[in-house]
Amino acid sequence: MFHLEVNQLHKSYGETKVFAEIEFGISKGELVTLLGPSGCGKSTLLRALAGLTPVDSGQIRVAGEDITRLAPQKRGIGMVFQSYALFPNMTVWDNVAFGLKMKPQPGRELSASVREALALVELEGFERRYPTELSGGQRQRVALARALVVRPRILLLDEPLSALDARIRRSLRQQIREIQQNLQLTTIFVTHDQEEALTMSDRVFLMNQGKIVQSGRPDQIYTQPASEFVVGFIGNYNLLGPEQGKSLFGAQFSSKLALRPEAITLLPAGGQSTDPCLPGVIHQQQLLGNVIRYQVACEAGLLTVDVLNRSASDLLPVGTAVTLAVARDQLCEVA
Ligand code: ADP
Repeated sequence: MFHLEVNQLHKSYGETKVFAEIEFGISKGELVTLLGPSGCGKSTLLRALAGLTPVDSGQIRVAGEDITRLAPQKRGIGMVFQSYALFPNMTVWDNVAFGLKMKPQPGRELSASVREALALVELEGFERRYPTELSGGQRQRVALARALVVRPRILLLDEPLSALDARIRRSLRQQIREIQQNLQLTTIFVTHDQEEALTMSDRVFLMNQGKIVQSGRPDQIYTQPASEFVVGFIGNYNLLGPEQGKSLFGAQFSSKLALRPEAITLLPAGGQSTDPCLPGVIHQQQLLGNVIRYQVACEAGLLTVDVLNRSASDLLPVGTAVTLAVARDQLCEVA
């Protein structure tokens, strides 16, 4: 049985359908990311699970209990927002203790709970500070401690890292994942950032225009895109028409084809491989750091090819003649 189960959830604002036919199950201890472009309905879905936005129809169950119409504070769900939502006039300690307002405890137990939550997010020693005396990352850790202090049955995180700089994002991402795994906390993490989704999750639910259009493990989402939308949203796929497929592989295809830039190998002009080969010319070159991204002109058009940047000889100037070896088994046919 799933810990969190959602059946046929619908939500509209007047004529605007925000999401429809949302169905999924999440096991205890799983971390699922809701990934999708801005405006696809991720936050509204998360808020509906938390009880902050009423749904029009459908059911939400936690551990078998129907919570669809339950007040937010009775759901046993903790939530963290992008904007931290801390009380500026309260100390770190009071902000975290506020999480227990709805769950009154004797003073000693309350102190132990707050101390434990602050230890989880490694903020011991910051108890007397006010939010303005903290960095963005520290503020978000206070917000996380406030959500954890009630020992929620489910943790919901709405773009919690979006306001932070890249280095802090990466370290906090890892810290959230460690806490979630140590506590075996069933978690939904909303993001529009594919790297965040692929690196953090047990499973990814990809949303577009109010629907979950594909779900699966990060490696499945990355290597087996089910539709043209997924191809456009994940990775930097080459999307080829059937005609281009024919010129690359000499075979007939009935649908479009997706090919990852790392599934194509660059060989010196005239080079040979067991994979299908074709001649090309470097049209554009972009140094991304550890990877060099080429646009290579060939009979099938312009193809994106990623090459690991191992030495200066990997950096080929525009105009260089090359051979492309294309891994046929990496080809995905998409609807
Ligand atoms: P995301 O989190 O994926 O960016 P949202 O859930 O915030 O998307 O919004 C999804 C859609 O619902 C958007 O088109 C947005 O304009 C609309 N929407 C969200 N909240 C409201 C509201 N209170 N009233 C009307 N439309 C809303």
